[in-house]
Amino acid sequence: MKKSQEMLADMFGQNVFSDKVMQTRLPQNVYKTLHRTVDEGAELDPAIAEVIAAAMKEWAVERGATHYTHWFQPMNGQTAEKQDAFLTPHAGGVLLEFTGKALIRGEADASSFPSGGLRATFEARGYTAWDCTSPAFIREDPDGVISLCIPTAFCSYAGEALDTRTPLLRAQEALSRQAVRVLRCLGDTHTRRVKANVGLEQEYFLIDRELYRRRRDLIYTGRTLFGARPPKGQEMEDQYYAAIRQRVSEFMAELNEELWKMGVAAKTQHNEVAPSQHEVAVLFDDAVAACDQNQLTMMLLRKVAARRGMAALLHEKPFEGVSGSGKHNNWSLSTEDGRNLLNPGKHPEENIVFLLFFMAVIAAVDEHAGLLRMAAASASNDHRLGGHEAPTPMLSVFIGEALLQMVEHACGLSERVFKGHGEISTGVTTIPKLFADDTDRNRTSPFAFTGNKFEFRMLGSSESASTLNTVMATVVADQLAQVADRLEAGDEPVAVLRDLFTTHRRVIFNGNSYSEAWREEAKRRGLVEYPTTVEAIETLTTEKSIALFERHGVLTRTEVISRAVVREDAYIKTLRIEARTMVKMMHELVLPAAMRWQDELAQQKRHIEAAGLKTPVQTGQLAFVSGQVEALARHLAELEEALRRLHSTVSCENAREWRDAVLPTMAEIRAASDALETVLPRDLWPVPTYGEMLFHV
Ligand code: ADP
Ligand code: MG
Repeated sequence: MKKSQEMLADMFGQNVFSDKVMQTRLPQNVYKTLHRTVDEGAELDPAIAEVIAAAMKEWAVERGATHYTHWFQPMNGQTAEKQDAFLTPHAGGVLLEFTGKALIRGEADASSFPSGGLRATFEARGYTAWDCTSPAFIREDPDGVISLCIPTAFCSYAGEALDTRTPLLRAQEALSRQAVRVLRCLGDTHTRRVKANVGLEQEYFLIDRELYRRRRDLIYTGRTLFGARPPKGQEMEDQYYAAIRQRVSEFMAELNEELWKMGVAAKTQHNEVAPSQHEVAVLFDDAVAACDQNQLTMMLLRKVAARRGMAALLHEKPFEGVSGSGKHNNWSLSTEDGRNLLNPGKHPEENIVFLLFFMAVIAAVDEHAGLLRMAAASASNDHRLGGHEAPTPMLSVFIGEALLQMVEHACGLSERVFKGHGEISTGVTTIPKLFADDTDRNRTSPFAFTGNKFEFRMLGSSESASTLNTVMATVVADQLAQVADRLEAGDEPVAVLRDLFTTHRRVIFNGNSYSEAWREEAKRRGLVEYPTTVEAIETLTTEKSIALFERHGVLTRTEVISRAVVREDAYIKTLRIEARTMVKMMHELVLPAAMRWQDELAQQKRHIEAAGLKTPVQTGQLAFVSGQVEALARHLAELEEALRRLHSTVSCENAREWRDAVLPTMAEIRAASDALETVLPRDLWPVPTYGEMLFHV
C-alpha cells in the first residue's frame, strides 16, 4: 500500500505533456520558440504548431491514446469536449494523424452552449483555439477511452469570448501589466511578469450510490428538496478532522492517484464539519492552471465515486440542517522568479512593496465588492451564503489587529502599540501566532489575509473558480493602475498608501462576521449586502463594471452583458427544474404515502371504535396527518400555478419574480413534507432519509 518516494515522483504528472516532456521531445529551436510564446505572451507561430502536434501525438499514442479533444470551459461553469479519433483515411487504410491545424484550432457546433445572445443560432459555429500556456494532458476514462486533452479557448465567429478561460487569460495579462508598472516605480528594474497564484480547497459530500439513485431530487437538482432532520446531525462536532472511514480513504487514495497522474497536486484531505462531508486541497499554481485543475478535480470526484459505488455531491447545500460546501480560493501574487508580493517579510511596516500590494487588494475588494459577490452567486450557493456556517453575502476583509496596527503605523497614523500582543519588534515571528489567536474570528470572514495570501471563502463548491479569478485579477489590476499613475506622477509611496488606507479601511473588519452587530455596523459604514443572486448579478452590468472590464481589455460591453444574461438564465432554469422536481416527487411519492397512512389511521380508528374502545392516539395522529396533507396539497397547487404563470423570459425582474414566487412556496411544501416524514412509518416513507444518506457511507 505504501508508495515509495520514487513511485510517487514517477506517477506525478505522468499524463501531462509538460515542459520537461516538451524539452526532451521537441527540437530545441521549436521548444525555445514555444517558450517565448508562453513566457512573453507572444503569438504562436503556425509553422512550429505542426512540429508540436506531431510530437504531442507520438507521445499520446505511446500512452495508448486513440482520441484527441479540445477541452474547453463554456459559460455554464463546466467543461466541454468533443472527441476526435486520430484516424485519417490513407491509401485504403488508416493513418494516425494529428496536424498543426487540428492542434491550434478546432471548430465546434456552439449552438448548444449558453452564449447570452452572442451567437445567433444561424451562426452556430464556435471556434476553439489552443491555449499554449496550459499543458496538454492525457485522460483515461473508466470506459477505456484514452484521449489527449488540449486546453482551449472558445469563442464566437466574431471573436467574442464564449468561455471562462479567455477572460481569465486576459485578466491575468492586465494584472501583470499593472503590477510591473508599480514595481518599476518602487525601484524593481528586472521583473517582467507578475501572476496571481491560486490554491483551491474543495468540499464535497460522499453518499452511497444506491441511496443517491433513489433520490430524484439529488439526480435532477443536486440537493435534497425535502428531508426531516435525523436524530443526530453535526452537533457532537465529532466529524471534523476525524479518522477517515475505510471506504472513504480508499476512495481518496484512488482520487489522489488519478489526480497526480494528470499533474494535479492534491495535497491535503480531511473530513469536514458535516457527516459524510470531506475536503481535498490542491497545491497552489498559476490561476489559470488552478482553475483547470479544479475542474479536473470535480470531474474525478464524480467519476471515482461512481466507480466505487458512491456519489460525490458537489452542490453547496445538499442537506438542510448541516453545513454546506464551499470552495476556498487562496490568492497571492508572485513574480516570474517566484517572489510572493504578499509576503509581509520580517518587517512588514517597512516593506513598501508588500504594503502597497496588500492595500491595493483590500481597496479592490471595497471598490468592487459587488462584482466579487457576483462571482460567487448562483441559485445553489444562495442556500449556503448567509447561513451560520458560511460567510454573509457581504464583503469585508479580515487582516487581524496586529497587521491593522502595523499598516496604521506605516501610514503615519498611529503610534506603534499592540493591544495585548506584546512588542511589534518581535516582527514577523509574531504574525503566525497572532493569526492563530484570531483564528476563531478569522473563520467567519468572507475574505481573510492568512499570512502571505488572501483567502476568499464565498465561492460555492460546485462553481467554476474562473469567473472569480477573472474578477480578482481585474479589480486588483485596476487598483494597481491607479497606484502606478500616482507613483509615476511623482507621489510618495507612503502618501499613496495612506490614501488607500483611509479611503478603504471601512472594509476591514476583524470581528465576527456572522454577528447581527456586524451587519448593523457594516450598514453604518456604507457596505452593501447582496442577499441573493438576483441582486448580485445586477452589479455586473452597471456602467462602473462595464467600464472596468473594458478599461483592462478583459471583457467588452457586449461580452459583459452576455454573461449577465447567461447567469440570469441559469438562475431561472435552476429554480424551474427544482420546482418541477418537487411537484413530481410530491405527487408521485410523498402525497400518496401520506394519504395511505391517513387512510390506514382512519381504518384503524374505525376498527378500534367498533370494538368499543376509545382512539385518542389514532384521532390525534389522523388530525395531524390530515392537516399536513392539506397544507402540502394547498402549497403544491400554488407552486403548480406559479409554474404555469411564470414565463421564462430572461431578465433581472423575471429572475426576481421566480425567486419570490417559487422559493417561499417550496419552503412551505418542504415544511409539511418534513412534518409528515417524522410521523410516517419507515416502510411507507418512499425515499432514503437524511439519517440513511448521511451516516451510511
Ligand atoms: P489552510 O489549511 O490553513 O487554509 P494551507 O496552507 O493548507 O492553509 O493552504 C490551503 C490552500 O492554500 C492550499 O491549496 C495551498 O496550496 C494554498 N496556498 C498556500 N500558499 C499559497 C499562496 N502563496 N498563494 C496561493 N495559494 C496558496
Ligand atoms: Mg483554508
